[in-house]
Amino acid sequence: MSILKDDGSMNPATTAMLHAVSGVPVTLLENRRVLPRRSNWLRFPWNSKRSGGGAFVLGQRIRANGNLFGGTCTNDRALLFRLAHEVGHLTHAAAFPYSATGKFRYIMWSASQYVTSYLRNGCDGYRRTHMEQEAETGRWVLRTFPAVHQEPLALIDPVVENKLTSVERMIRSLEAEIDDLHEHYPGW
Ligand SMILES: [Zn+2]
Repeated sequence: MSILKDDGSMNPATTAMLHAVSGVPVTLLENRRVLPRRSNWLRFPWNSKRSGGGAFVLGQRIRANGNLFGGTCTNDRALLFRLAHEVGHLTHAAAFPYSATGKFRYIMWSASQYVTSYLRNGCDGYRRTHMEQEAETGRWVLRTFPAVHQEPLALIDPVVENKLTSVERMIRSLEAEIDDLHEHYPGW
């Protein structure tokens, strides 16, 4: 079992949950492929694991650390939380064309945010960029709403097991709670 299909796109239960926690439109989540980062040539110095990165979005693809793949439930849970952040960047990437030139412009746009923030905020520069603050909303909501329930994994594992009906029912029952968290996101 995996939160991803064989082609790397997200399974329907994952899509439903990530839409609920991040607010990213379903149309931006469907058919986006999540691939191991090791197969990509790009290495951004501001996106190291130490600075809170370890994954990035480029165009319609999300590249994540290869250690998060493999389909064990531990990997899947970790990847789900990672994606709850990364999908926020799909919205940022969608503001640019998906062509090579568009991707280059997106990289330059991100780089200028990181550099400006590093100059202003020092070591905290990565986290403090507007784009990182925005993207973190989804992961914060996904972490926070199960934590107040008695069995947090009972809210996460149906996603990992791709039980779409259960996940949709759960999201409906927690809709007000999730909306409330969105309003009270304290920032990263
Ligand atoms: Zn990010």
